[in-house]
Amino acid sequence: MQYLVLPINKLKPTAGYKNAQYKSSWGYTHYGVDCVATDRVTELYGLGNGTVAAAGLDGLNGKTTGAGSGCGYVLVVIYKDVYNHNLKKSQDVTVTYMHMEALPKVKVGDKVTTSTLLGYYGNTGANTTGAHLHIQIDTDINNPLYCCGLSAQGHSVLKKGTSDSTVNPTHIFHVGDNQSITTVSSTWYDANEFINIPTAPVEVNTYEVVRKINKYKSAADAKDKVNSRGTFQPGTYYIYNRYPEGYKGMYNITTDTTGNSAGSWINPEENKEKMFDFSSILNFIKALISLFKNK
Ligand SMILES: [Zn+2]
Repeated sequence: MQYLVLPINKLKPTAGYKNAQYKSSWGYTHYGVDCVATDRVTELYGLGNGTVAAAGLDGLNGKTTGAGSGCGYVLVVIYKDVYNHNLKKSQDVTVTYMHMEALPKVKVGDKVTTSTLLGYYGNTGANTTGAHLHIQIDTDINNPLYCCGLSAQGHSVLKKGTSDSTVNPTHIFHVGDNQSITTVSSTWYDANEFINIPTAPVEVNTYEVVRKINKYKSAADAKDKVNSRGTFQPGTYYIYNRYPEGYKGMYNITTDTTGNSAGSWINPEENKEKMFDFSSILNFIKALISLFKNK
């Protein structure tokens, strides 16, 4: 599981998700969040670990502004297994960035992290009255180009989405390191939605082997090798990704003599029996037996 951070480090919202004022002014529903930077740093970095699904000019015939320019320069990134702090569960999401200043700095298939400069927000495309980022988050990752709220014509990258699987971006965002949010009282967004965005838990990135599930050497062999998964003994391990307030993600990883092969994050809630450390119970019983033996 991962915690996505804000798209802009010093973020100031200008229009909220499904905002009523927006709909009455523009005549259509706002399926994303509009925001700018208070420090005018227009850099956009990745929200977390993702993969680029689309990047390019959404306008027709090279048009970057006005009629026929679509959503301007756009970027679509898929982020998997992200925490929704409103639903208190993780989900896969498609994140669409609109009105970028120029072509994104990443291309289809690229992996992004919070250190990846994706590009800059700008004022390209139709229906924009000043430089800002429109960011839209959709839980359908199988149709990443389909976007709610678009007109059917006038797009060369994005397509009109017809069923609404969007999510309020403020439920997905977390405030990362060196990030902040500035709100004012506005009819264009609900300031509380932004004030309630939690701080991203700091991943201390220690992987602890809790239980090793097949016949190889003991989990203790690997436990000594925190943060060096490649040196684990061959076998299958369940590993927690530890945060200061507790274990959040759980990794099922299979290693071989050459290092480790890909595992996958599994939901600890659905795998409670795997989180249970039987060896500690066994040791407790052994200790009890020896205690009675010594009497
Ligand atoms: Zn917008």
